[in-house]
Amino acid sequence: MTKLDIYNALLAGDSPEELFCRADAERKNACGDSVVIRGLVEFSSHCVRRCQYCGLRRDNLQLDRYRMSLTEMIAAAQRILEAGVRTVIFQSGDDLTFTREDISLVLRAIKKRMPEAALTLSLGERPPEDYQAFFDNGADRYLLKFETANPSLYEKLHPGQSLKKRVELLEDLRRIGYQVGTGNIIGLPGQTVADIARDLEYLKEFQPEMIAVGPFVPQQQTPLAGHPMPGPELVLKVLALARILVPAAHIPATTALATLGGHELQARALQGGANVLMVNFSPSAYKGLYRLYDHKACVDLEKAKEIAALVKRPLSLARHDAPDGIACPSS
Ligand code: SF4
Repeated sequence: MTKLDIYNALLAGDSPEELFCRADAERKNACGDSVVIRGLVEFSSHCVRRCQYCGLRRDNLQLDRYRMSLTEMIAAAQRILEAGVRTVIFQSGDDLTFTREDISLVLRAIKKRMPEAALTLSLGERPPEDYQAFFDNGADRYLLKFETANPSLYEKLHPGQSLKKRVELLEDLRRIGYQVGTGNIIGLPGQTVADIARDLEYLKEFQPEMIAVGPFVPQQQTPLAGHPMPGPELVLKVLALARILVPAAHIPATTALATLGGHELQARALQGGANVLMVNFSPSAYKGLYRLYDHKACVDLEKAKEIAALVKRPLSLARHDAPDGIACPSS
């Protein structure tokens, strides 16, 4: 698919069924029919960054913040594994209070009890030495979104940060040996179709093992509170193109999609290239506090079953490794 093909597909009419069918066929061929479940633990809502669109930004003084203890983190992972889900994702803001040793301890404790668990981290920007230590202590995957491949838009939305550094860190993660996840946001203020085409070009070049395509959803306590959400069709088109350009990637029907268009939109994403659902296993005391954006939907295991049933596909709780682009097995 050339740059021009990508651009034309993005500009195509409102319901490009042909594009969705092609993405669905690519998904079936590379990943099988299972809807893969990942267990998510949002362990800290503290963050040192100031991303303009995010409710966790450090300037948001109205947010009720929390940190889970290391013991709570291990217990949450244990609950995920006891539910039969074999992939645990630990996510937080860029919270450097959790040291290299803290995270390493948690990883070791889980791997000791359940060596077959796949451990994913999404902790933001850290020194490469931290990434190496986490990998050495059992982390298998790291998710670090690039958000937008337009450097000036990136810098506008992420004060004090640069796209160059973000891309270098993604390269570091790959060099260390992680399965790397990345992705973008659709509907950012000032973002053009050409910018989104550039995002897709980057995905095609980098070939990540996981891709998260999320819509912009406003949060009332941020500078972008009044900015509108994008149309669902555009987000679905980008997700479908991501599948076509990176056939073996794991692609979630994100929770933000459910906020944009309900669980039906997540089901449509699963019919247009997505193959993963994230299930939130954070303790209930913390669930409503991780306010990246407003009206955040919640997907539990029962809801995930309902969504998979909507698209008539089986759930899989397995690890589903596809580190080298080999097709992942269906259950
Ligand atoms: S997007 Fe991530 S790094 Fe940026 S403010 Fe939110 S939690 Fe922090």
